[in-house]
Amino acid sequence: MTGNRTFTMIKPDAVEKGYIGAILQKITAAGFKIVAMKYTQLSQRDAETFYAIHKERPFFGELVEFMTRGPIVAAVLEKDNAVEDFRALIGATNPADAAEGTIRKLYASSVAENAVHGSDSDENAGIESNFHFAGREIF
Ligand code: GDP
Repeated sequence: MTGNRTFTMIKPDAVEKGYIGAILQKITAAGFKIVAMKYTQLSQRDAETFYAIHKERPFFGELVEFMTRGPIVAAVLEKDNAVEDFRALIGATNPADAAEGTIRKLYASSVAENAVHGSDSDENAGIESNFHFAGREIF
């Protein structure tokens, strides 16, 4: 069974470049409903916890530095088949490999600064949503 929610962040690079509106437009035009959203900034500890799965990767330090350098938009999105459909909408991790019309193809600049996050499984969508929105009525 596939779930109907996923979690996203508009990352610091895209916020800095003024792409929040354009990215939210793509998301809602693709049929996702925004069920929770906030403008915030990750602390070092937040970023290290959120990306703990990558802590052995050589780019972990760079990733934490990037994700904490400015504000982000965090949101929970709802749609049938949300996780898979949202990964298709954002495109490959490296924008050079992302399909035409995807959010990363349009708004990302590199594999590191790739504009948006999208959960990779229903389980992680739940964990990541709770990380940012624990205690909210919708959960
Ligand atoms: P995603 O699921 O498509 O976001 O990709 P991953 O789970 O593989 O990586 C998580 C995030 O780490 C990516 O979205 C990038 O922001 C960052 N990242 C991935 N590969 C690299 C890399 O080679 N260098 C750096 N600096 N960051 C990377």
